[in-house]
Amino acid sequence: MSKLPEVAYFCMEYGIQSDVKLYAGGLGILAGDYLKAACDENYPIIGVGIKWKQGYGDQYIDRETGMPYDAYKIREYPFLKDTGVEVSVKICNRDVKIKVWKYDAHGVNNLYLLDTDIDGNDGEARWITGQLYGWFGEERVAQEMVLGIGGVRALRALGHNPDVYHFNEGHALFAGFELIREKMEIGMSFRKAWKETRQQVVFTTHTPVIQGNESHPLERFMYMGANLSMKKSQLKQLGGNPFNMTVGTLRLSKISNAVADLHRVTANKMWKKVRGKSKIIGITNGIHIPTWVDEKMLDMAANYDGSNEAKDKLWQRHLENKKELIDFIYNKTGVKLDPDVLLIGFSRRAAPYKRSNLIFRDRAFIEPLLKKGKLQIVFSGKSHPLDDGGKKIVSDIVEMTKRYPDSVVFLEDYDMEIGKMLTRGSDIWLNNPRRPKEASGTSGMKAAMNGVLNVSILDGWWPEACEHGVNGWQFGDGYENENEEECDKHDFEALKDVLTKEVIPTFYDNREKWIKMMVASINSVKNRFGMKRVLDEYYDRMYTL
Ligand SMILES: *Cc1c(COP(=O)(O)O)cnc(C)c1O
Repeated sequence: MSKLPEVAYFCMEYGIQSDVKLYAGGLGILAGDYLKAACDENYPIIGVGIKWKQGYGDQYIDRETGMPYDAYKIREYPFLKDTGVEVSVKICNRDVKIKVWKYDAHGVNNLYLLDTDIDGNDGEARWITGQLYGWFGEERVAQEMVLGIGGVRALRALGHNPDVYHFNEGHALFAGFELIREKMEIGMSFRKAWKETRQQVVFTTHTPVIQGNESHPLERFMYMGANLSMKKSQLKQLGGNPFNMTVGTLRLSKISNAVADLHRVTANKMWKKVRGKSKIIGITNGIHIPTWVDEKMLDMAANYDGSNEAKDKLWQRHLENKKELIDFIYNKTGVKLDPDVLLIGFSRRAAPYKRSNLIFRDRAFIEPLLKKGKLQIVFSGKSHPLDDGGKKIVSDIVEMTKRYPDSVVFLEDYDMEIGKMLTRGSDIWLNNPRRPKEASGTSGMKAAMNGVLNVSILDGWWPEACEHGVNGWQFGDGYENENEEECDKHDFEALKDVLTKEVIPTFYDNREKWIKMMVASINSVKNRFGMKRVLDEYYDRMYTL
């Protein structure tokens, strides 16, 4: 093979190590897994991100009200290496200095982190890299200017001139503005600089929820200086006014990808009217297997020969993982779950479309199962600090833990460690978003490779992997309805059906089939949804295009 192109990967967040709080959720987990796999495979990829002083907030439950509240801590990461490099970006008419750190730990040695919390910056500038995603439009733009503009300048100062710039979400768009500025500075016209920059940029879009796609009044870009070399009318050609970051990035990239095949269809519908956008292909996400998957489980499934001995061994290993989870839950909450009872795991951001509390829709259905020792459920997940709907969902679940204290638990302050424990030790992994709002859903891949059977709506990655009754279960048959009440009603009936007619009877009455399904789950998913496959697809279909 000819020499691989060098790639600079830009992302606001990276999930590398549970207590290194440079991540909020799935986007960061993907970015962290991507860099780890790039290191494993020795691919010429450099990550660019931000050293968040506080990162994303912790979230705890108020014991009296049962409502979640957010807490921010100053984080120190003494393992980061000082590169000695400093660059600056003009934000709101003053030079903001940016220090560049190198991350070289936890299996990642190819990540540079930008930091404005340094001497020489005024108080406000020092807080630009304070809280991941921030609270206000202006704060967000300043953060994105540091990431994008500061990021390209940092690469130059470090001596890098990458062939490809990969923007993981539209947050990185200003890196494209800097690439345009570099060209205009040496005399190129805006049109030509735009055209040539497009050839350097590829884009991964994530959110199929329209509100999740950030936009800003153009005036804000102008007075903050994010426009760099461009006039207002030129900016407008890129992203409209208000300026939509996703639209702008679609017009400033040579190719884009959605994060699952169904998401490709959704994203193409969503952005159909955007003229001059790059083609949106589907490259389904994957996970860094050594980070998330129990190696023993993988081995046992690979060598599984159907003998009684192999079955026993695999089941025993699963029980070890389940007991480890049960102890973990006991240490955190004081609740002791029963290893013989079917354990449902559910952890994800408490966004309303994910419907974390769907299973509680009808008490007459759930109560006997919980009280008669047929089911126990463990939840985890944070709501966005400004999302009252999400907070209500968390508090509803907390209410259920009070009503059914022996069989429903909620683990506060969801993080990578909780994610890892739950996707190893649960019996099934429940996922019930309103289709098609789940872009990919990598937690289901973690579960599947650990032999934790997915019970999921056909959304995100699951339509590509699901063989119903063979390696997991689907429910809802791909139903979509924009009327949320109708959609919830339909999907809840389907969930009841699959649980009572298939999942519960198989678990209690046909352990042999269950174990076979675990093996099928692991073996059918491990190659297709590992990060190595994703990297190779990025190279084949985007980077070398
Ligand atoms: C895996 C993981 C995610 C992403 O999974 P989803 O299925 O998209 O929710 C988010 N947060 C944490 C902590 C994870 O471990």
